[in-house]
Amino acid sequence: MLSNKKTNKKFEKEINNIKNELENPFGNRQFRKNIPKYELPEESLPSDYVYELIHNELSLDGNPLLNLASFVTTWMEPEANKLINENMGKNFIDVDEYPQTFRLQERCINILANLFNSSEKEETTGTATIGSSEAIMLGLLAHKWTWQKRRESENKSTDKPNIVMGGDVHTVWKKFALYFDVELKLIPLTENKYTITPEEVKQEVDENTICVGAVVGTTFTGESDSVEKINDVLLEIKEEKGWNIPIHVDAASGGFILPFSEPEIKWDFRLEQVRSINVSGHKYGLVYPGIGWLLFKNKDDIPEELIFNINYLGNEMSNYSLNFSKGSSMIIAQYYNFLRLGKKGYTDIVNNMLSNSKYLIERIEQSNKFNIINKNAVLPVIVLSLKNEDKNLNVYRISESLRSKGWIVPAYSLPPNAENVKVLRIVLKETMGRNMIDYFLKDLFEVYDKLINSLKYEKKEHSLLY
Ligand SMILES: *Cc1c(COP(=O)(O)O)cnc(C)c1O
Repeated sequence: MLSNKKTNKKFEKEINNIKNELENPFGNRQFRKNIPKYELPEESLPSDYVYELIHNELSLDGNPLLNLASFVTTWMEPEANKLINENMGKNFIDVDEYPQTFRLQERCINILANLFNSSEKEETTGTATIGSSEAIMLGLLAHKWTWQKRRESENKSTDKPNIVMGGDVHTVWKKFALYFDVELKLIPLTENKYTITPEEVKQEVDENTICVGAVVGTTFTGESDSVEKINDVLLEIKEEKGWNIPIHVDAASGGFILPFSEPEIKWDFRLEQVRSINVSGHKYGLVYPGIGWLLFKNKDDIPEELIFNINYLGNEMSNYSLNFSKGSSMIIAQYYNFLRLGKKGYTDIVNNMLSNSKYLIERIEQSNKFNIINKNAVLPVIVLSLKNEDKNLNVYRISESLRSKGWIVPAYSLPPNAENVKVLRIVLKETMGRNMIDYFLKDLFEVYDKLINSLKYEKKEHSLLY
């Protein structure tokens, strides 16, 4: 009897210890140990404790709301969050099981075809992707095949496909050329010219050009290639030489800005040679990361060989993508934004961001400390270079000092042949209101003054020494 009681006591004590640990994760001895980083732990751990561990560790990340580096959405409405959570367990590729989710994708594609002014509405087609990168790969691949098929039908060589674009393109374009074996004809930038001209395009294209890339809202300066003039040049070439060279427009950021800020500017399906367009839903489409869109003006712009008709989970379906399984939530979230905001909502948000960016530019110009190098930007993006540089005062040090105040503002040099231009880039998103901008400016000027003063101080010390 007695020994039994003893065992029970011991057991109860252990149970209590475990209970305490569960109820009070910070008292857990694991907080005195390092956590598993290289191997799958032998034992399981309580969920709340693991949550606390990872949650706390992630506070070392930057604050998304102070992240002025990225174009990607950091905030959505609570109702959108709710829909996202509710649908997180749906694999988008299971079309037969989740037909309604698929219909929402189709609606988004129709809405975008209209927004991008397709005159061939019935025939316009497209797909949701993980982002603009997948969309660009798929778009360019289709143009490569179209070119190849045409050349074969004319009994001409298909050995040397090339693609023409400017140094202002996103890295994914160069990746395409490398991965899919296409010669890259890159038009370099120069100081004070950060987009490409129709004349340059005219010089570069030939009968082996599968496609010309044009960017609406470049990553580096937020400016646009003049798609309309490039289209004109390609139409002339088509007339004169018979080369039918399509344009793929990279509207990753601009595709959700220009239709609302300057709908009269022609960069989209209104132009004859524009056969495909990509846009990032997770940039100014205002959805969290994981959603991009690819549109073809006409379904004939995708060679049928590239469409996979698969029999999957009991149904025939056609599919054009690089990956297979993916979440449904961001497609649903995109449709939420379309319904929720409508034209008016997107226009109001875009106008706010552009007006805030104008304000930021004015204040920075008044300070006389920086040059604004992207006055023609179509995006709410401000790119600055320093009027005076020195050992202690350069864009990299400003970026570093701003980071210590929480602001994330990248510093980089522009692509060749403008690599001598060192800049800071500020991307405004809808969450960055006027009040926050004022605090940002205060910190920016403070950081600048501190660096300048440390400069003077160091110079003084030197003069004392010698
Ligand atoms: C962001 C961006 C990309 C890449 O898009 P993801 O959606 O991040 O894959 C491509 N081109 C331009 C112009 C971009 O701004």
